[in-house]
Parts: sequence; C-alpha cells; structure tokens
Amino acid sequence: MKTLLDLTPEQLAAEIAEIGQPAYRVTQILDWVYKKGATDMAAMTNLPAAIKQHFTVLTSRVVSKAESTDGTIKLLVELADGGRIECVMIPTEARATACLSSQVGCGMECMFCASGMNGLERNLSTGEILEQILHLQKESGRRISHVVFMGMGEPLANTEAVIAAIHAIIDSARQGVSARHVTLSTVGLPKQIRRLAAEELPITLAISLHAPNDALRRELMPKAAQVPLEDVLAAAEEFYQSRHREITLEYVLLAGVNDTNVCAEALARIAGRLRCSVNLIRYNPVPELPFDRPSNTTLQAFADRLAKRGVNVQIRRPRGIDADAACGQLRRRLDGEPTETAPPQGEPTGETPAETPEETPKPPEGV
Ligand code: SF4
Repeated sequence: MKTLLDLTPEQLAAEIAEIGQPAYRVTQILDWVYKKGATDMAAMTNLPAAIKQHFTVLTSRVVSKAESTDGTIKLLVELADGGRIECVMIPTEARATACLSSQVGCGMECMFCASGMNGLERNLSTGEILEQILHLQKESGRRISHVVFMGMGEPLANTEAVIAAIHAIIDSARQGVSARHVTLSTVGLPKQIRRLAAEELPITLAISLHAPNDALRRELMPKAAQVPLEDVLAAAEEFYQSRHREITLEYVLLAGVNDTNVCAEALARIAGRLRCSVNLIRYNPVPELPFDRPSNTTLQAFADRLAKRGVNVQIRRPRGIDADAACGQLRRRLDGEPTETAPPQGEPTGETPAETPEETPKPPEGV
C-alpha cells in the first residue's frame, strides 16, 4: 500500500493512472485528505474499493494527548517502527498553530534541550511530518492555519523531506496554509539555509541562536558550533536578501549563562546586522540538566537593553505550561524517563513552540 502523504500530486496521478482509475480521482483524494482532514480511506465514500485498497493515509498513531488549560494540545505520536515524536497545537481565537517535529530525537544535542539528550534516531519522511497536522486537526477539531517547524529535531538536517512537506502545506490544492504563516527554525546550517533560499519558498526563517558568540555557542550547542557563527550569519543575510523575508532570532535565556549585559549587547549587534527581530524565551528547566531559568527582572532587563539598541524584541508569552510543552519533555516522561513536573502556572516552558506563535514578530510568527 502507498502512503498518500508521501506522494506529490504528480506522483499520486501516476499511481492513479497505474491502477486504471480516471484522473479526477486525484482531486477527490486530495480534497478528502487535505481539505476534509480524512485519516482513513474508508471514510472516502465517493472512492471505489480499488483506490481504497491501494493507499493508506496514516502510518502513525497518537499514543498520548496532553491538554493545557489554555487550550494547547500536545500529542505523543508513535511511528510505524515504534519511534516516538511530539507535536503541538497552539490555539488562539483566530489561529491554530501546529508545531511539528522533523526528526526522531535530534543530533544537534544542545546542552540545555530534552530532545537532544538521546541523540538522533532517524529523520521523518514527508508523510510522517504531514501526518502530525492530521493528528492535531483530529484531536483539536481545528483546521491548522499556521505551521512552525520548531518541534523535535533540526529541520535543516532533514532538508528534502521538510521542503517537500512545506510545499504540501502551502499548496492551495493541499493544506493551503499561507507561506507567510510558515516558520522554520534552525540552529543555523549555512549550506542548507542556502538550499532553502534556492527553493524560493516565502516562509520565515528563525535562527535559534541562544549564544551570541562562538565561545558560548561551543559551550551550549557544540554540534551547531562546528560551523562558525559568522558563516551562519552570512547565510542568513543571503536568505534575507534573496527572499526579502524577515528573519527572526530565537534566544532561550539561561540564568547566569547567556543573560548577561555583554550577551545582550552582542545579540543587539547581530540583530542590527540582520535587521531582524528577537524572540526571548525564558528557559524551562529539565531536571537532569544543569541550567536554570532567569528571573523575570533579569529577563525584562535583557529585553530592555535590546530595545534600547533599537531591536524589535518580543518576550514569548507562555503557552501549554501544564502540557509538558517544552520540546522533548512529554516523550521523556512517557518513556519512563525523568522530566520535570509541570512548572508553575504562568512560567514559560522552554525552547519550543508551544509558546506563542502569535507573539512572534511580524511578519508571520514563530516557535
Ligand atoms: S534545541 Fe533544537 S536543535 Fe538543539 S537539540 Fe533541541 S531540538 Fe535539537
């Protein structure tokens, strides 16, 4: 059986022709999956058995659902081979934002991140990325209007599958999300940033910076720091120039580590150079890791210093706090590994998306 979400419309058309079905079946199938959110071939009542038996929609299943009092939904999804990933839906009245994973685990192994603690298991296929949207729509009853690639994994370490998924997400004949409402977050892989720019997708690029100089970057993000910061910034500048799309910087504040005045000044210089906005996120501690969150006073002082340097800075509003919303935490808890208990209400959850796409600087929005 073929997995529908792994197929481009052209590949689907070829499959349909191969089993002797008329071409209009392609539109019917795409409507069922992407417009009506059907997750089961049996639900596609106007299709013949020959088609229903030839394709499948889902290869994964939801094994756990955590729901926050603010409406944020976080799903733990089990893949066909038993691998587990997380995805999140962050709702507002006007928007339903999906935060998607791109890999099982993460090979970047950032020192402060739960998702990177066990390293990379494997890349997701395009279909496995898109299935997360169907699961989130089914579990929330909302149609996804915005997408951020800020879940488990480094999206640009799985570039081709992620680019194919973005094409499906923004294609008006498929998911139909405005490209301006899609954000991809990366630690900064220059070659892949250029590959993304060449694809001419008018999405927003978010650089997960977290350290404004190479020394601190090596300490916090040793894998990412194998590429000098200057190379990352040069690639980001090229992306901006080629796409004329705003870049945002994501910056998780770790108490006493990267929340100093010196860091704020260095970050302001980078933001000025890239003419980009900065999203500040207060760290959500992971018990096994030696990092803590800064106080509100420190967070505000850091933001004020950036603002005084003319930087458009946002402090992310916490979302989904009581739903293990920080990246990798639900999976670790349900895998029987220790994670923190839910942090106090009103505190940010961590580096990930489950926190406020709606406050990401304009245009679009991010993690
Ligand atoms: S912070 Fe992002 S890139 Fe770093 S280990 Fe976690 S998921 Fe991977």
